[in-house]
Amino acid sequence: MAAFGRSGTFIVCLAVLFTLLPQNTHHHTMLEGIPSGKTRVLDLSYAISDKLVPWPGDEKFFEAKVNASIEKNGYFTRSFWMLEHYGTHLDAPAHFPPGKATVDQIPAKQLFGPAVVIDVRAESGKDADYQLGAARVEAWEKGHGRIPEEAIVLLRTGWASRWPDVRKYRNQDEKGKMHFPGFSAEAAKLLIDRKVSGLGCDTLSIDHGASSDYSVHHLALGAGLYQLENLADLSELPETGAFLIVAPIKLEGGSGGPVRVFALLP
Ligand SMILES: [Zn+2]
Repeated sequence: MAAFGRSGTFIVCLAVLFTLLPQNTHHHTMLEGIPSGKTRVLDLSYAISDKLVPWPGDEKFFEAKVNASIEKNGYFTRSFWMLEHYGTHLDAPAHFPPGKATVDQIPAKQLFGPAVVIDVRAESGKDADYQLGAARVEAWEKGHGRIPEEAIVLLRTGWASRWPDVRKYRNQDEKGKMHFPGFSAEAAKLLIDRKVSGLGCDTLSIDHGASSDYSVHHLALGAGLYQLENLADLSELPETGAFLIVAPIKLEGGSGGPVRVFALLP
């Protein structure tokens, strides 16, 4: 009986091991599958130039100058100047509340996580002032399961199709107020409660365009989340199953900065 008990324990241990194995090999093969093309890599960042859509009121946003040329120097280098919040960029927690992490202080671990994609293209198409509600997040969870801790939650509004047309992308009215969709404060509170690492969107701001209090910025950044803005076309991302690598510039003391965002698709 004792021997049977021991082998029973052994079988239970094996069963536990096998349930753990697939998860480990899953991420392992996801990275290993990149060179062969088994894993697709999507680049969710726009190339940086002086042709992108700046925030209204920003008159100087990007400049690049040739520093050395092949003809003159035998090699080619440039210098460049840009705003921290221009093009596809990351808002560090320090962007709004004082005393929070600057872009260089965000723990590297927080920059990797599963992508949760909430598709609101239909709602955004009907209403440019659409705000993602908490109920919509809960509806997503009914279909896909609870949003995991350390997830990066992306709002897919379809606004990337307007990029880089300044007029269409900002969608300003006669008074200069912008109209594009975003997260609501209630949704932000729920996602903070889920302990996600960051929020992202394919628009100019995490808050909807007509916002004047930037409540989502205050809430999310205040809770230590980072924000990804002006992400490129998200249409190829599944609602779950992609893995994100978020690589912002490591600018000491920065309120944010340009970011390269990669999505890995198994
Ligand atoms: Zn920003």
